[in-house]
Amino acid sequence: MVKRKITSRYEAAWSNSEGPLLSLDTGTWRTRRPVVDKEKCTYCGLCALYCPPQCMIDLKDHFVPNLDFCKGCGICVKECPPGAATMVPEGEFHRAGIKG
Ligand code: SF4
Ligand code: SF4
Repeated sequence: MVKRKITSRYEAAWSNSEGPLLSLDTGTWRTRRPVVDKEKCTYCGLCALYCPPQCMIDLKDHFVPNLDFCKGCGICVKECPPGAATMVPEGEFHRAGIKG
């Protein structure tokens, strides 16, 4: 059995309930990342509900993605009622020197 380095613990649909959860490093798949505008976020929680790897972090007045696991699928952005979340190309963060 291959042992994976665990950087965080999150639940996911495919997780083994007997081991650490969400151990797949899906953050490396991403070409775009969701960015949440805190001022527009209504804290409805739909992004967290629909996120496939369940990697949205609850900051108690808005949500942000855990970039270790966010694979950039964009579902949270599609499901965001007020349009508070947008997908931004990773290249923009690399050019600005911002790491995920
Ligand atoms: S883009 Fe959104 S829904 Fe998709 S993995 Fe990242 S946080 Fe989750
Ligand atoms: S779906 Fe949009 S408005 Fe609702 S909590 Fe997520 S980012 Fe905020």
